[in-house]
Amino acid sequence: MAKKKISCMEVQKNIPAFIENDLDSKETLEFVDHVRHCDTCMEELSVEFLVLVGIKRLDSASAFNLNQELDDLIDYNEQRARQKRQTSFFIFIGALLAAIIGGYFLSGIFRK
Ligand SMILES: [Zn+2]
Repeated sequence: MAKKKISCMEVQKNIPAFIENDLDSKETLEFVDHVRHCDTCMEELSVEFLVLVGIKRLDSASAFNLNQELDDLIDYNEQRARQKRQTSFFIFIGALLAAIIGGYFLSGIFRK
């Protein structure tokens, strides 16, 4: 467990927000990374997920597998967070290129 950056207390505080998809991408990645390596928090997440989602489903007759749903939710949130980070990285590179190219053209104009 060398890769524990945030504490169990922080993770468990964020469980409802994670389930409701309210964490930002950085928090989501830290959260997912933590629960995948920490049995205590994973168990806590499962319990809260069962309570939060299970209650909403009490009146629905549809068969459901909440453990599978939780796995899906973790994967989905992780992927979404990674995509978001990638997107902002590309936007950053794009802005940087635009600044360099723009600067190049501007300096060309001023040299005339
Ligand atoms: Zn933990």
